[in-house]
Amino acid sequence: MKPQRGKNSKKKGEVDPVEVYCRVRPLDNPDDNCCVKPLSTSVVQLIPPENSLAVARNGQIKEYQFTFQYVFDEYTSQKAVFDYVACPLVDDLIRGKNGLLFTYGITSSGKTYTMTGSPKDQGILPRCLDVLFNTISGVQAKKYVFKSDKMNGFEVQSEADAMIERQKRDLMPGITTPKTPTAQRRGNFGDQERISDPTILSSVDDDNQYAVFVSYIEIYNNYVYDLLEELPYDPITGYKPPQTKILRTDSSDCMYVMNCVEVEITSPEEAFEVLFKGQKRRKVAHTALNAESSRSHSIFNIRLVQAPLDPRGEEVLQDPDKICVSQLSLVDLAGSERTHRTKNAGDRLKEAGNINQSLMALRNCMEILRDNQKNSSNKMVPYRDSKLTHLFKNYFDGEGKVRMIVCVNPKGDEFDETIHVMKFAELSQEVLIARQQQVRFDIGLTPGRRKMNYKEKFKSEDDLCTAAKVPAFDFSLGPGFPPFELLRSSDDIVLPQLEKFLEERQKRREAMQLELDRQSDEFRAQLVEFERSYEQALVQNEELQQRVEKSESYVQKLEGRIRSLEKRMEENSRNYKESERQKRELAAMIQDKDVKIRQEKSEKERLKSDFRTRLDMNNQHWERNLEKERQKIEQDYGGQIWEKQQKLNMLRNIVNEGDSDAAMPAPQEIFRTPAPKVRTHTTPGKLLSARSENDMRKIGNTPTPRSRTATTGTSLSAARANLRPTPRSTSNTPKPTPAYNPRHRRSRSSNAEIWLDHRPPGSVELDTVLQPKIKKKKSVSKLEVKDTKEASKYMLTHQDMDSDDNLTTKIYKGECLPTAGGGTAVVFNDVEELKQTSPGSRKRRSSCPQPQDFEGEWSDVEDRCNIAIEGHGNARKRSKPGSATRV
Ligand code: ADP
Ligand code: MG
Repeated sequence: MKPQRGKNSKKKGEVDPVEVYCRVRPLDNPDDNCCVKPLSTSVVQLIPPENSLAVARNGQIKEYQFTFQYVFDEYTSQKAVFDYVACPLVDDLIRGKNGLLFTYGITSSGKTYTMTGSPKDQGILPRCLDVLFNTISGVQAKKYVFKSDKMNGFEVQSEADAMIERQKRDLMPGITTPKTPTAQRRGNFGDQERISDPTILSSVDDDNQYAVFVSYIEIYNNYVYDLLEELPYDPITGYKPPQTKILRTDSSDCMYVMNCVEVEITSPEEAFEVLFKGQKRRKVAHTALNAESSRSHSIFNIRLVQAPLDPRGEEVLQDPDKICVSQLSLVDLAGSERTHRTKNAGDRLKEAGNINQSLMALRNCMEILRDNQKNSSNKMVPYRDSKLTHLFKNYFDGEGKVRMIVCVNPKGDEFDETIHVMKFAELSQEVLIARQQQVRFDIGLTPGRRKMNYKEKFKSEDDLCTAAKVPAFDFSLGPGFPPFELLRSSDDIVLPQLEKFLEERQKRREAMQLELDRQSDEFRAQLVEFERSYEQALVQNEELQQRVEKSESYVQKLEGRIRSLEKRMEENSRNYKESERQKRELAAMIQDKDVKIRQEKSEKERLKSDFRTRLDMNNQHWERNLEKERQKIEQDYGGQIWEKQQKLNMLRNIVNEGDSDAAMPAPQEIFRTPAPKVRTHTTPGKLLSARSENDMRKIGNTPTPRSRTATTGTSLSAARANLRPTPRSTSNTPKPTPAYNPRHRRSRSSNAEIWLDHRPPGSVELDTVLQPKIKKKKSVSKLEVKDTKEASKYMLTHQDMDSDDNLTTKIYKGECLPTAGGGTAVVFNDVEELKQTSPGSRKRRSSCPQPQDFEGEWSDVEDRCNIAIEGHGNARKRSKPGSATRV
């Protein structure tokens, strides 16, 4: 025999579909619009009413047909439904197999009616109990022979121990499991007379002992509540809300509700007491939780425990491994209507959502199971998504038969909800469940042990005495009195006979008295012994009670911890799911970015190569331009050199011809000599009325590298432009120069050489070691006409940055000459260049500048000498002015 529920193995290869039955209830009002029509015993038709959503959506009335295992119309009796759907499950239960029966449908479709019914017309649940007890009557074990091990399993104890436990519980009710309710209303269904089901099944095994245990739970808002648990009562606040229970896996991997009260019942009436108690608590709990019964799933579990009799057929075999536990779960599901229909708000909405969620989870599991079976895939079935599916996981994994009754309210208004119910129900039939193996109770003992034992038990009185441990003693009076009628006064026959008889009687009396005394002594001793053991038992009970209390509080603590762990687990799994989702999102983002990066890289590569080609083209273009420029400059300079040579020759001739006689060359002629380093600055005034203020400012300001070119090339005075004509500019008509006397000399006798030091604002302090030493000097930052009149020499400080970012200071020096118009003209004749370089930026080299450093800049020996002096950081360079200075 296969022991304990869940250890039953599945029959390999053999599967049964989930059997779905449809029950159509009668209309409340026969005039109501009816949308359901059973076509046959297996087909039902749904016709959408005109106001239904389906018609609104499709615009046409489309009929739907659904096929089920059996369709019960509105006239089908409760008995017929029970016989067809549930009775085979009771039969299986007695044979040691498990069964699960759901009633599914929208609210008011007849689920509770089908499951519980009324006293006069009982539903499936009471009928199951009736039939079960009808069948096992006579083979029922005494109460407490089977004991729960609190871990979903059972233990077996001797009948004597069971008797002690019964007495103990009678003495101290409620110390261990709650006392089974006394069936005060035996034979009643609530307060009404009930009509019980008379069916008796033949599946019972005479050589087994049976015991029935029931539990009643509720799943509400995805929390499990025990409906048989005493609710804590507070005299002020009333009943406290019930504690939630947790689901556990037992040693055989079966799910069960931990610490759920399981009551042993010995008759259907006791079972009804339990049921009513549960229903009453359900109402109280719903009031405390502000809940509604149609939104909760109620589950009534019947567990049948059976074990074989010992070889003598007397007691249950004391072997826990031989116990077989089978279970029938009767589930009245919550209304399957969708949330919007419930018209809830706040908490109600949440609870409705949860109910739908657990029904959705049921649907999900069914769908995945079906897909797995159809496609031979191995997708994980999400049983853990809701307590409902988690609790019944084993059934779907092949630990028992699953049946469903779809209850339908044919009212037209319910069409839109009913169609969903039907679709799901029809689909559920495609789910296949592995068939449970037949449980074998044959353990090698002689069949018919119970009957044998019964016959032999009462074979002789001696056996009875032996059984009662009473020694055999003949307490009969023995033979009767002999005839004692005296015929004569001296009768020597009758009297001696009588005397002898009396003496024997006397002896017998004494023996009997002795035996009585002995037996009463023995009895007294036994009684004393019994009393002592009874007292001992009481003490033991007390100890036991204390231990039980302790372990109960410990269990409660553990329960609390398990609950919190469970919560954390749930939270973790939620977080895990969330992080998985985020991971997926991030992976997708990374992939996107990778693609983008690759695209950008290739784009960059493309741009790079593009740029390189352009650069090459540009370089070639510039090289060509530069080459052209170089050739042009070479030509220009060739011309200039030639021109210079010509002028030099001319000057040499003039010098040779004699100083005094020589005709003074026209200023134009003199200034035509190219003198890049000579600057002529004409002060603004009456003489140079053509000069604008703007030009003056340009001279004063520190020019930028660009503006420097402008200063030297363009923005100096017109006279300067004339002074420095390029060979090309010779072709331009020279502008008239101001009339001044270049030979004018101030009187030097009075040592009146006054310098006008013009430092435009913003000039940087030089802090040079070699400072010019000028005695009479007037420093100005802005040039005024009157200053030029007083001064005989003019110096302009100009600072600039060279290509190496070093500061270069140039001091342009000139003579102030009065002009014919009363102004002053400055003739620049010298440029001093002061260059400061950072020692850090210099390459390692000798402290003295090397000739190649100045390659191309040296003009003559004097320059070389200057460089030799300046070679350490502060390079002071003096540029030779052009020929004009020598004029
Ligand atoms: P549910 O549990 O699905 O919400 P109920 O079982 O409470 O619905 O049924 C609602 C009402 O319909 C009850 O009054 C019940 O007596 C009645 N009813 C349901 N099914 C039937 C039926 N087959 N025959 C007669 N009355 C029924
Ligand atoms: Mg109901």
